[in-house]
Amino acid sequence: MSKQYVFHFKEAYGLGKELLGGKGAGLAEMTHIGVPIPQGFTITTEACNLYYESGKKLPEFLVKDVKDAIKVVEKETGKNFGGNKNPLLVSVRSGARVSMPGMMDTILNLGLNDTTVEVLAKETSNERFAYDSYRRFILMFTNIAKGHPRTAMDKMLEELKEEKGYKLDTEVKADELKELVKKYKQYYKETFKEDFPSDPYVQLMEAVTAVFRSWDNPRANVYRMMNNIPYSWGTAVNVQSMAFGNKGETSGTGVAFSRNPGTGEKVVSAEYLPNAQGEDVVAGIRTPLHIDELQKRMPDVYKQFMDTIKLMEKHYRDMQDMEFTVEDGKLYFLQTRNGKRTPAAALKIACDLVDEGLIDEKEAVLRIDAMSFDKLLLPAFDKDDLAKATPIATGLAAGPGAGTGKLAFTAEEAEERHANGEKVVLVRAETSPEDIVGMVAAEAVLTMRGGMTSHAAVVARGMGKCCVCGCSEAVIDEEKRTVTINGKVYTDQDVFSLDGSTGKVYLGTIKTVMPDLTSGYFGRLMKWVDENRTLKVRTNADTPRDAKQAREFGAQGIGLCRTEHMFFDKDRIFSMRKMILADTKEQREAALAELEPMQQKDFEDLYEIMEGLNVNVRLLDPPLHEFLPQEESLIEELANAIGKTVEQVKDRIGELHEANPMMGHRGCRLAVTYPEICKMQTTAIIKAAINVSKKTGKLVKPEIMVPLVLEVKELKFVKNIICATADKLIAESGLNLKYHVGTMIEIPRAALLADEIAQEAEFFSFGTNDLTQMTFGFSRDDVTKFLPDYYSNKIFEEDPFKTLDQNGVGKLVDMAVKLGRSTNKHLHIGVCCETGGEAKSIEFYHKAGLDYVSCSPFRVPVARLAAAQAAIKEKLAK
Ligand code: ADP
Ligand code: MG
Ligand code: MG
Repeated sequence: MSKQYVFHFKEAYGLGKELLGGKGAGLAEMTHIGVPIPQGFTITTEACNLYYESGKKLPEFLVKDVKDAIKVVEKETGKNFGGNKNPLLVSVRSGARVSMPGMMDTILNLGLNDTTVEVLAKETSNERFAYDSYRRFILMFTNIAKGHPRTAMDKMLEELKEEKGYKLDTEVKADELKELVKKYKQYYKETFKEDFPSDPYVQLMEAVTAVFRSWDNPRANVYRMMNNIPYSWGTAVNVQSMAFGNKGETSGTGVAFSRNPGTGEKVVSAEYLPNAQGEDVVAGIRTPLHIDELQKRMPDVYKQFMDTIKLMEKHYRDMQDMEFTVEDGKLYFLQTRNGKRTPAAALKIACDLVDEGLIDEKEAVLRIDAMSFDKLLLPAFDKDDLAKATPIATGLAAGPGAGTGKLAFTAEEAEERHANGEKVVLVRAETSPEDIVGMVAAEAVLTMRGGMTSHAAVVARGMGKCCVCGCSEAVIDEEKRTVTINGKVYTDQDVFSLDGSTGKVYLGTIKTVMPDLTSGYFGRLMKWVDENRTLKVRTNADTPRDAKQAREFGAQGIGLCRTEHMFFDKDRIFSMRKMILADTKEQREAALAELEPMQQKDFEDLYEIMEGLNVNVRLLDPPLHEFLPQEESLIEELANAIGKTVEQVKDRIGELHEANPMMGHRGCRLAVTYPEICKMQTTAIIKAAINVSKKTGKLVKPEIMVPLVLEVKELKFVKNIICATADKLIAESGLNLKYHVGTMIEIPRAALLADEIAQEAEFFSFGTNDLTQMTFGFSRDDVTKFLPDYYSNKIFEEDPFKTLDQNGVGKLVDMAVKLGRSTNKHLHIGVCCETGGEAKSIEFYHKAGLDYVSCSPFRVPVARLAAAQAAIKEKLAK
């Protein structure tokens, strides 16, 4: 039998999101559990790939399958597609595996033409409804299937309303809509040099291809990149008979969350718009009413609505985000999915579902999105400072956190000013998908129109971005670049502070504070997290402040202390430069002697904060010229201070210049040339450990990490210096202090020879920044110039410096772990670069059998969560 590309909702239950897309799978599942939905069928994601493989065409047999499927829907509904009696109208809806808000568009009321619209008008005795549907269809078809901007057609409607003095779309009369339809069609003909297609099958096929085509539009590509959605997934298309919310006052449409998506509170949070079609709510064209309004108008429908929501929560065991439409007092659901929520709501809902017995603790841990978990660590406004401030306007609390910045009026402006180091608040009448880049760059987003499910709100919640929307008191003038609130005009120089938890807007800056992370839901979840993970989490920290912060976030040690950062202080850089410019070993040792006590103090502070946890110190890594001045005046100053001529200093700078410093004289190569630097650092590390151990009565556990090793003899050479220095100091101290010497694995050769290197190393720490750089042969500093071309040409889908390249670099990691442990059973293994705090990479490290990951302090809770999720997933898979 040949492959099936089209499935009716009734036969599709259990086929999965991969094939049906999220929307299609939801429609099949709702059908299965008895939720009322308008019937129809799904054209699978495989058909989307087939469309691209066939040179962006629907193969003949697929066209026939779709036609056959329509025949079945005709039978089921008793309606006729394009018929003279009881016409069948459908929506054509895109639906990828995960929801991509606003990225892919839907066409409603397809099947209307000059004949069917008249039949519909007569049969429903509702001419206004018929022509309203028709004009919406022409507009959407033009806009979405043909990709033409809707501005001109929107303007025709606006002008009509203005001329007649109407405020709302619903006031426009049937005759006027008829005229509008004519104008729309005229416009269509002028624009495309052809008549608006009247054959419903032609309309349908064009719409289906348009959905497939939109999978590859620039907006969709940007969203996919941001959210790591592979291009190969494709989108499904759903063709569904229409439920009409625009038939009059006993009809309407709305959206509902089964719990509050902002706070997680267990109350249905819904909005309802009478006499309207779905797009009106989503587009934020009219501001919807509270759901209580439905209860007042149609209590029976309301009851059925609430009962169905309960049924769905029980079935899905999660908070649902639903669309519904009431046609002449009959309720239909049109979509359900696990609702997007703020990280705070996610946390509360997961804990509540455990208490309600719907899920267990492991499941609760899996329910939290690791990528947005750090948003929980977002600052909120300081209570006292906030109490003193008076809001100038209030909108809906649509996105989490708090944000302060100067006003920016377009996405480009926000992006540009952000790039220049300014903090901005993006102010828009309503956002659209083109605004995403501006939303990313802004501290917060303020919109004038739209409800809790408007584009701005949905996208902001997804990003964990502070957002206040539907702030109708604010009047935005995009041309003048001003916003007026209660008669006062604000410009791009004014600062607004937005509170995403209350929807209040303040003038000026308000102080922010960090939330409490040990108590309440957070504490509960982290307990489950720690019970379930095996991978330890350390932090990268060079300062006491970072170390303290990381411990508050639960770090189990320091995985990387970069010593070079410690030399940039004003009083230190001078000694450092003296050391670099020294002519003799003696001069160099004298300068190092000045640095040693400062360095020792640094380590003492870190050891004290870490209270006996492992502290891993990496020896000096960057090439020495990074410490020397570039500017003429500074060079002169330095020369005078150390009693050299400017020429001499410049000569030395010239000597140190390297064509390719990343692959130059750095890492342990410095220790090979200048063993005294390594000696000084070891002395500081060990002396500090001795002091703190004596002071606290608890032995410190220092680890000394040799960077950029590529050969066992090289490591042995450096290790000999370290051990000779350290052992002497420890013997003198009389303490039983233990230290460990190990290496970073960051050059492919080191990974290839890991079995040899492991014989001299007590630990490995993967440095995936360098390892990625060297494996790809990409310079980390230059890669941003050409990586975008790799994305747009679909060679790469993600940045290998952020998410470990499991195929390539991952293979080296895996191999080095196995080789290393083959010659050294006790080898302790970690990772200490950016990917150590990234969820997908952490799952890989768990599987590869690492002992720990190390990441920046703010990623520590994320890494703990991701480590627990990896362990739970592994257990469930067994
Ligand atoms: P999106 O993915 O952008 O939300 P949808 O396919 O869900 O797009 O459709 C947009 C709007 O049109 C939604 O409000 C939806 O409820 C409504 N809609 C879609 N199909 C139908 C239909 N067959 N009958 C009535 N309303 C529909
Ligand atoms: Mg939808
Ligand atoms: Mg490195």
